[in-house]
Amino acid sequence: MAEAPIDPVDIHDYAAAHKVLNPRGPRRCFCGRYLFYSSICGHLYQDYPLKCGSTTSKSGKTGFCSIPAPQHHMEGRVNLACAQCRV
Ligand SMILES: [Zn+2]
Ligand SMILES: [Zn+2]
Repeated sequence: MAEAPIDPVDIHDYAAAHKVLNPRGPRRCFCGRYLFYSSICGHLYQDYPLKCGSTTSKSGKTGFCSIPAPQHHMEGRVNLACAQCRV
C-alpha cells in the first residue's frame, strides 16, 4: 500500500523517522540532505538538511559530519506542488 502523502509541516518528522546512516560519518551518524519530492508534479519539493549533532562548525552551528553531505531520496511524497509549479 502506498504511503499517505506528507504534509509540508511534517517533513522534519518524516526525515527524523526515516534516518539513513551515513557510511562516511561517525557511528550512528545520519547526516545528509533528505530530498522530498512532490506527489503532485513529481519535482523536488524540499532539500531538507538533517544533522546528527556530532559535528559543530567553526561558527558554532551544527554541521554535516562529511562534506559533501550524502543525499537521501525519500520515498514519501509531499502533498503540494513544488514552488515552480505553484505560481
Ligand atoms: Zn553526522
Ligand atoms: Zn513542480
